[in-house]
Order: sequence, then structure tokens, then C-alpha cells
Amino acid sequence: SKAVTLAARPVGMPKKSDFAIIETDVGEPGDGEIQVQNLCMSVDPYMRGRMVDRKSYVPPFQIGEVLTGGCIGRVLKSNHPDFAEGDHVSSHHGWREAYTSGVEGIEKLGALVTDPSAYLGAIGMPGMTAYVGLLEVGALKDGETVFVSGAAGAVGSIVGQIAKLKGCRVLGSAGDQEKVDLLTGELGFDYAFNYKDGNILNHLREGAPDGLDVYFDNVGGDHLQAAITHMRPFGRIPLCGAISVYNDFEPAPGPNNLTMAIGLGLTLRGFIVSHFNHLAGDFRRDMEQWVTSGQIKYKETIYEGIDNAPDAFIGLFTGANVGKMVVNF
Ligand code: NDP
Repeated sequence: SKAVTLAARPVGMPKKSDFAIIETDVGEPGDGEIQVQNLCMSVDPYMRGRMVDRKSYVPPFQIGEVLTGGCIGRVLKSNHPDFAEGDHVSSHHGWREAYTSGVEGIEKLGALVTDPSAYLGAIGMPGMTAYVGLLEVGALKDGETVFVSGAAGAVGSIVGQIAKLKGCRVLGSAGDQEKVDLLTGELGFDYAFNYKDGNILNHLREGAPDGLDVYFDNVGGDHLQAAITHMRPFGRIPLCGAISVYNDFEPAPGPNNLTMAIGLGLTLRGFIVSHFNHLAGDFRRDMEQWVTSGQIKYKETIYEGIDNAPDAFIGLFTGANVGKMVVNF
């Protein structure tokens, strides 16, 4: 069975030679252990941070070790009373085709309402990030005006659709015209723009003449600075991610207009989805209902086979994905 290790710490944009594909032995399960065949795995922007040797909210990956990350699998063999052959499980034993382990940190998913891969995206960690970031951190109220960056990605596409469900006016930015068309077409955004084309602040003025109540920040950098300038009094900015600076070697300068937050009474609040684990039950119930009723559409970009996992990961930083980037086995 194959797995992917970190061969070198990426400098700047990650490259294929930073990864290695190896053969591993998946041992027989001992007492209390299970053996799982992975069906699909997630690649996520936060993994870039773990490839750097520094202290963070998750410890760094080590050179030569198999990478870890979200995955959905099926139990092949079980020596644990709570798990049966055929059960779908979600775990952090990704970047490998199969594994044998104890059950700590492995979640039994029960009945799935759609494809397993959706539990890595809309009904998984990114969807939950959108849900708690917008509704809890962003304290969204019905009918407000919301802007989300990275809007065609896993988190952003769900943020925009939840905001539409709440009767909001929704703006989104993405890196090419095809994504912009998806946003204003199938996903129902009111206004979308290609951030590589024209000035971000001008787009915001056009799409939201009265300003923004909530800016859901996936990108940082220029996007954050432009949004701060265009916020309404007492606006909220959930700081979810800053993918535009993840490959920077030196820290990027901060927004030069942060003092505007004083007079406007803005709230800029960072968060990690796991700060809201107590809402996981509510999230799964709501999102499964929204997905099965068609009120929320989920998009995926699927790379086939573990050999393509490094390319899928690198693709996050070139915008190769529409919706959730997934590797299927
Ligand atoms: P996405 O599916 O959005 O994939 C990443 C996207 O980022 C790409 O498709 C690309 O789209 C865009 N991008 C890449 N480089 C840049 C750049 N320089 N400037 C602007 N956009 C860029 O990933 P996720 O939805 O999984 O994650 C989105 C954000 O949310 C990330 O910042 C991530 O770290 C964060 N996150 C935070 C969590 C938390 O708990 N706080 C949990 C999960 C995610 P495009 O074509 O539009 O450029």
C-alpha cells in the first residue's frame, strides 16, 4: 500500500520533489485496533504551514515521515467492538491508501447522505469552517451584505451559499472568469469578480455601494486591506485564512488601514474551526439537510490516485480547484 512522505521542506511554492511516494506495510489489527481502506483524502491549505518547522496550533510535519490529513475510509477488519467491517470512518490518517491503528480520533460516520468525498468538503471540516466562521464568529444577521474571498473554493463556496440562505446580499472574489461565472450562476452570488482583473476596492464599491457588514477573509493581503476600507460601522471580519501569504518566506506587511477599525468599531476575529467542536452536531444536521434538499450545492475537483496527491496539494496555490480539492483512491 502506498503513502506520501515529506521529502523536503518547501521554500516558497511547494514542488513535486518536496514529496515522495513510498510503499508501506499495513499490519494486521491488534486488540482494539481496526484496519481501514481509504476511499479519498483531503489536501488543505493549512498543511502548508505544517511543512515549516515552527511552533503553531498543529505541530510541524517531519522530513521522511508520512504526512497526515483528513480522509474517509471503510473498515476492512475490526478488533474493536464499536467498529464493524464496512463502516465509513473519518480520520486524520490521510496521505496513505490504507492504515491499521487504534480508534482514538477516528469518527464513525454512520449513514452517509451523499458521496464520501463530501464529508471532506461541504459536510466536513471546510463546510464546518464556513458555518461557524460566518454564523458564530461573523455573527451574521439576515439581510446583511457579505463579501467572501476565495469564494469558489471549499470554504468560500459554502460561506456564500449559507449567506444567501440567510437572505443576504453576497459578493465573492476568485482567480479566473470561469469561477466568477460559477459564483454568479449556479451558486447564486449577487456579484463576483476576478481579483486579478482590476482594483479590489473598486469592485467592492460596485458590488456593494452601501458597504460591507461582514467580510469573510480566506486570503489576507490586498483583499483584507480593501475590505477594511469598505466596511460599514460595527462590521465583522472573521479571519479564517490568509492563503495569499502562506508561501511567503518573510512575513508580509499588515493592512496599512487598520486604524479605520477604531472609528468604525470593527471586529476582526481569528478562529480555528476546532474552537467550535461543540457545534459539530448542529452543523452536520443542518448541512446534510441543505445538501440533500439542494439548497447548498457542493463542487469538487478530484485527482485520481495517491500518486497525484502532491499535485493536488500544489494546485491549491495555483487555483487549480473549483470547490473542494479531493484525491480519490
Ligand atoms: P480552497 O478550496 O479555497 O483552495 C485554495 C484557493 O485559494 C485556490 O483555489 C485559489 O483560488 C485561492 N488562492 C491561492 N493562492 C491565492 C492568492 N495568492 N490570492 C488569492 N487567492 C489564492 O481552500 P479551502 O477552502 O480549504 O481554504 C480556504 C481558506 O480557509 C484558506 O486560507 C485556509 O487556510 C482557510 N481555512 C481555515 C480554517 C480555520 O479553521 N480557520 C479551516 C479551513 C480552511 P483562486 O483561483 O480564487 O485564486
